[in-house]
Amino acid sequence: MKGENLTKKIAIFGSTGSIGTQALEVVKANKHLFEVEILTAHNNEELLIQQALEYQPNAVCIVNESKYDVVKKALAKTDIKVFSGEEALVELADFDTYDIMLAAIVGFAGLKPTLKAVEKGKVIALANKETLVVAGDIVMQKALENRAPIIPVDSEHSAIFQCLVGESRNPIEKVILTASGGPFLGKKPNFLVNVKRDHALQHPNWSMGAKISVDSATLMNKGLEMIEAKWLFNLKPEQIDVVIHPQSVIHSMVQFEDGSIKAQMGYPDMKLPIQYALGFPARIKNDFPRFQFRKYPNLSFEEPDYKTFRNLGLAIDAMQSGGNKPCVLNAANEIAVWAFLKNRIGFLDITAVVEKTMESVPFIPNPSLQDYFDSDGEARNFAATLLKI
Ligand code: NAD
Ligand code: MG
Repeated sequence: MKGENLTKKIAIFGSTGSIGTQALEVVKANKHLFEVEILTAHNNEELLIQQALEYQPNAVCIVNESKYDVVKKALAKTDIKVFSGEEALVELADFDTYDIMLAAIVGFAGLKPTLKAVEKGKVIALANKETLVVAGDIVMQKALENRAPIIPVDSEHSAIFQCLVGESRNPIEKVILTASGGPFLGKKPNFLVNVKRDHALQHPNWSMGAKISVDSATLMNKGLEMIEAKWLFNLKPEQIDVVIHPQSVIHSMVQFEDGSIKAQMGYPDMKLPIQYALGFPARIKNDFPRFQFRKYPNLSFEEPDYKTFRNLGLAIDAMQSGGNKPCVLNAANEIAVWAFLKNRIGFLDITAVVEKTMESVPFIPNPSLQDYFDSDGEARNFAATLLKI
């Protein structure tokens, strides 16, 4: 209809991060399709201000309250509403004025605002895998009740989601998540014991935020993704397989009951899954480089080294146990990765912290949302005590 606004209004939670900034590039290249309604950041006030001035959202939130005045002052000449504090994230998620939440906050901190958006029946473009790792049963149940579509942004899950389009009547036999293997593929504990922060942040194929880069190096990321896949696609643990594929060209695969396997492929570039999630069900034409098969004469696949990268096994244990185990695994991992990034513990200590915390926090088979918050807190405290922080 003439004059009708057909653009989708996007709320980017975590707009200053790796996913958030790439999402804004997608918006910029597709101004006829998307408008920015909300932007949120934790600490980076400079970038948030710059983004707000460029994209003119309705509201922004700087979670760190000590930075509120700077942001407020910088945006004083605009109509942009400025919020601050953790609770404001939930208030903003409660706005009626946006269509899609891009959940791009890292870690457990993304759970509350994402859950609020789910309760509002918003479309969720989900990058924040920790939300499903921690409370996947509750999030998926609420999504069903409120008809909130959850479209994955994580490249593996986007691949699976894309393979499933048109297959709603056909059960999945299994999904095969591909993993690059990270920067330490093929390395053994005698090497890993000396690994430092900067080395772990050098991912061979993807450029990502610090936490997920470390998770990729320890293979915890793939473990978290197995749990994410379980909830997103309603799978049993034994239907989820992981294969190391160092070239990161096949982003993941689905095997159906006739044995046929569908894969989704392309260069490793998060802008594609971000764009797919924001544009779904439409594919959006772009000028990203097209894949050149001749430049990849060999695509290889191998078994993960479970003995060296023990986080993967711990995540599988957590997935199989269910209850609050994945929540505890995630919380301990967040603390351990934080300590590693601060050079307070070694690379292999991350696994030790996660393992000990999983052994210590009492198991709850059918947790309520409050139980998840309590388990998260308990696991963080225990892990912090182990680390003497
Ligand atoms: P990042 O560290 O680059 O950015 C995180 C964003 O969250 C920033 O905007 C930051 O301000 C905000 N944030 C951090 N802590 C916060 C807190 N306590 N409260 C509120 N906001 C907070 O992270 P990223 O790499 O963009 O990853 C974001 C999420 O997407 C993660 O869950 C990650 O696992 C997932 N993901 C990322 C990639 C990638 O390529 N970067 C790929 C797949 C999935
Ligand atoms: Mg991924």
